Amino acid sequence: MTGKIIRAFGRYYTVSGGGVEMNAVLRGKIKSDPRLKKFSEPAAVGDNVDYTVDAEGLAVIEHVHERRNVFTRKDRGSPKEDLIAANIDQLFVVQAFREPRFNLRFADRLLVRAEKENLPAALCMNKADLSLPEDIEYIRNYYEASDVRFVNASALSGYGRDELLELCAGKTTLFAGYSGVGKSSVLNMLFPGIDLKTSEVSESTGKGRHTTTNVRLIAMGKNMSVIDTPGMREFGLLDIKPEDLSGYFPDMRKYEGLCRFAVCTHDHEPNCRVKEAVENGEIHIGRYESYINILYSIKEYYANMY
Ligand code: GDP
Ligand code: ZN
Repeated sequence: MTGKIIRAFGRYYTVSGGGVEMNAVLRGKIKSDPRLKKFSEPAAVGDNVDYTVDAEGLAVIEHVHERRNVFTRKDRGSPKEDLIAANIDQLFVVQAFREPRFNLRFADRLLVRAEKENLPAALCMNKADLSLPEDIEYIRNYYEASDVRFVNASALSGYGRDELLELCAGKTTLFAGYSGVGKSSVLNMLFPGIDLKTSEVSESTGKGRHTTTNVRLIAMGKNMSVIDTPGMREFGLLDIKPEDLSGYFPDMRKYEGLCRFAVCTHDHEPNCRVKEAVENGEIHIGRYESYINILYSIKEYYANMY
């Protein structure tokens, strides 16, 4: 039988197949599949799988189909990439104008991952009811040169609903963000039947570790699905090589090959075209600082490894 993983909870999965949902586990031998070994968990939400059903009605996942793409993170402390989801069409990074205030460096980390996987991505700026015009202006300037789309929304008032729904139509969209930004509230606004639990900001639980636990895919009909992920505080990109990073910043990628050194990380190298672009305002200084922040986290990791 063939089905799709719609929920991951530790080692337990829910598979949807043949019109029913079943609890599922992995067949042990799956872990030695060379395609799956590079990830800390061999299967994830969004995976299409072959399964058998045992005498107790438990599904056993026998085989994971080829994936179109994966959404992963790689943090210090985990030797492999954490597999959050597979086979997605686009990423929505949810942030809030206030309470908690947006953190574009965090957003950039997710956007880099999306670039690496060739996934379209957009920013959903929630709590627009708390926004100031200068916030909106800042974000517009920040992303102008990289052409990142952002949608202002308010789950409280319903503002932005039509625009977000239009972007979600016919696609599988992964929603990610740290807790408190209103990700659950936004999903409830978009899809009233989905009924996600929301929580006060003060009781937010988003521990860094368990991103791959309690991920859920919810089919909303007409080929439209959303993948809800738990709030995350960190988002590591330690699988990326320092010299490759700027290739995932569209505003920097434009200058590829124009620096004095063929391999330039746009940090302390002389005659760097990217740094020149930062100085004359073609690249937003905040974006450049965000790049340097990621670059140093990666360089530090490599330095400690060898
Ligand atoms: P999550 O952790 O990202 O899923 O966030 P929740 O959906 O649980 O929301 C966190 C808090 O933000 C709750 O107290 C919500 O009522 C509040 N909230 C959500 N959306 C909005 C909004 O658009 N405006 C305002 N002012 N508060 C919101
Ligand atoms: Zn350079």
